Amino acid sequence: MTDTHHHPENDSQFAGLTVNSGVVQPPSVNPYMQRGRRRKPMPEVSELVEGILKGDVTMLSRAVTLIESTAPDHYARAQEVIEKCLPYSGKSKRIGLTGVPGAGKSTSIDVFGLHVLKDPEARLAVLAIDPSSERTKGSILGDKTRMEKLSVHPNAFIRPSPSAGSLGGVARKTRETIVLCEAAGYNNIFVETVGVGQSETAVHSMVDFFLLIQVAGTGDELQGIKRGIMEMADGIVINKADGDNIPRTQLAQAQFRSALQLFPPTPSGWKPEVLTYSGYFELGIPEVWDMIDRYFKFVKDNGFFDQKRRQQARYWMYETIDEQLRSHFYNDADIAATLLKLDREVESNRRSSFTAAREVLDRYFNDIKK
Ligand code: GDP
Repeated sequence: MTDTHHHPENDSQFAGLTVNSGVVQPPSVNPYMQRGRRRKPMPEVSELVEGILKGDVTMLSRAVTLIESTAPDHYARAQEVIEKCLPYSGKSKRIGLTGVPGAGKSTSIDVFGLHVLKDPEARLAVLAIDPSSERTKGSILGDKTRMEKLSVHPNAFIRPSPSAGSLGGVARKTRETIVLCEAAGYNNIFVETVGVGQSETAVHSMVDFFLLIQVAGTGDELQGIKRGIMEMADGIVINKADGDNIPRTQLAQAQFRSALQLFPPTPSGWKPEVLTYSGYFELGIPEVWDMIDRYFKFVKDNGFFDQKRRQQARYWMYETIDEQLRSHFYNDADIAATLLKLDREVESNRRSSFTAAREVLDRYFNDIKK
């Protein structure tokens, strides 16, 4: 390569040193790359609402993302979307499903869902409340990969549990997502949860029918199930009634039936039923759904359906107030710093719990809230 440029280092005083001109380098940035492709900006409220009402799944998903967001300006916009969708919501069957891990929830939701979707008019949204996702930063409930057949069905919409925040926060977001799904035309809503804790109460307070999925096995099925969860159930279904397991499921069915007789009458007047089925082998599915249909007819006829929904609306108003007060309080930087200090003082016995609480509450009510 001939050197056409002058380099001072090539002067005779620097003999022994030869500097060649460089090679032209290709640009380090791909000129063909299009900018701004990574994340589309969040559409305007009106665009989201319009899309949702047309049943546009992309707009629905984006709006749910807005609900799940923790950014304060997102919160306000999400509330606007919900408010505008509210008049179009409410026309669905809301069904809660719970069961311990391994009970067969995902297998069952898959086949129950396909059963529901045999009706060409049916649209199904599967949502979830998973309090553990707070810790594991990712929810397995409502995960598409667990519901193989539903996940590819054009009339099904599957959304995993919102993962951030308290149980109250997670539950509120799921409840708000129900509103959007209904406005988008989903006339069947499943809300899944793990049958181990408090989340059942939250699910129970947002659904019309609460289904408890059980498995038979050890002979003492009733142990380990919290009485409160059984009391909430409108139906108990014992899964895995197939092969050698059939006699065990029948025994469990008899046990559950007699246990339920000892319970006080339900506020709806409906007598919870106990059925057996096999999610895996798809046995007894129409019978389970027949029970659920009969329940809906029963409570719509006796007025309990509307009464319960009105009660639930009130419940969610108070829940939302509680949740917002808590988060406003705990998310305040000044309160957080004061709490950190008081926390140590209380722990080391230098302060009483009550005066510490008083101090931080005074600070909140007198200085911050104003
Ligand atoms: P989940 O944790 O409640 O969602 O439970 P899965 O649906 O993942 O099921 C747990 C295990 O039970 C899986 O290995 C399933 O294949 C199995 N299973 C689910 N339903 C049935 C059933 O009806 N019969 C039998 N024999 N196994 C089942």
